Amino acid sequence: MKNRAEVRIDLEALAHNITHAKSGGTAEVLAVVKANAYGHGLIPVAQAALASGATWLGTALLEEAFELRNAGINAPIIAWLTPPGAAFEKAIELNIDLSVPSVAILNQISEASQKLGKRARVHIEVDTGMTRGGLLEEWEEFLKLLPSAHVEVVGFWTHFARADEPLSDYTQIQINVFEAKLLELQHAGCSPQIIHYANSAATLLSIGIDQKMVRLGIAMYGLSPDIGFMGHSAALGLRPVMSIAAQLHLVKKVPAGSPVGYGGTAVTERETVLGVVAMGYSDGIPRNASSATGVTHNGKRAPIIGRVSMDQFVVDLGPDSTAQAGDEVLVISQTGYTADDWASASGTINYEIVTRIAARVPRISV
Ligand SMILES: *Cc1c(COP(=O)(O)O)cnc(C)c1O
Repeated sequence: MKNRAEVRIDLEALAHNITHAKSGGTAEVLAVVKANAYGHGLIPVAQAALASGATWLGTALLEEAFELRNAGINAPIIAWLTPPGAAFEKAIELNIDLSVPSVAILNQISEASQKLGKRARVHIEVDTGMTRGGLLEEWEEFLKLLPSAHVEVVGFWTHFARADEPLSDYTQIQINVFEAKLLELQHAGCSPQIIHYANSAATLLSIGIDQKMVRLGIAMYGLSPDIGFMGHSAALGLRPVMSIAAQLHLVKKVPAGSPVGYGGTAVTERETVLGVVAMGYSDGIPRNASSATGVTHNGKRAPIIGRVSMDQFVVDLGPDSTAQAGDEVLVISQTGYTADDWASASGTINYEIVTRIAARVPRISV
């Protein structure tokens, strides 16, 4: 391979995942592309998602939405992290829908609208039990102020805290709160057209799929929202989109008893062949990944040995390995170590594994 390391993005798998998630419901799909499309590459993923049946895009940051517009993408976009003092005027000019989580932000967006002489399109976010984003104690005050605000309310939404726990009744409790708030909003004279609350987990469990829209994140990337409660990708009919390949920079035969890496925390138990992989924690390889993970070389597993360094880590290729420097190994793949394996080996979730892959690793569409 030409690159020292590369992220490979399977856009056919992405298309499959969107079609799969859409089947069964009438909802449109908003493709969640925050955080560089969960590490998969913002613009190519956004374009592919739109070409594969998604009709909306969702970002956390306004800057992410600006990037999409700069790339010539005209699809509707919602940005839902709207902190005080954000570039609301620019967002309104670029037709980016804004989420409103508080009275203060309603006022700021309303002011920006007035200044521009163009009403912002907003989605009201209510906190129905996650206790993170959205209106909670300000709700009554918000309802009083809303009629005089210079905004066009197009959406009403909330976010689930425990949708990935199929046996929990917490999602239904959140929906009940949501429905009650929606009635109050309607009584106050506001009837938003776009109701949305389902994330990937809810969508996969057929919750909220007959509302106007679902917000599809991790499932679009072919990963399970929670392997413990919901099973792995395959059990959910999903195909992982990301794989990672890297070069072996160096291959060396070492005797038994060789301490490997900083701190000499691992020692070879026999004579063996080690490979130095040209990725490290600065690329997003978790430093605390255990030897329960590693790479595959021609399909054969080679576990990590010793600590992960900033730009490299060492794998045990086994005494009979014929690997050569320059060979390609797979760090994340469907047939070798998966994102879920890396997550388990480092005490985190697949979301963190894929989003943390550093910008310096090129993304290649395959
Ligand atoms: C990230 C996010 C999603 C997508 O969540 P997944 O679990 O990845 O499907 C949906 N809605 C909001 C508001 C989010 O922040």
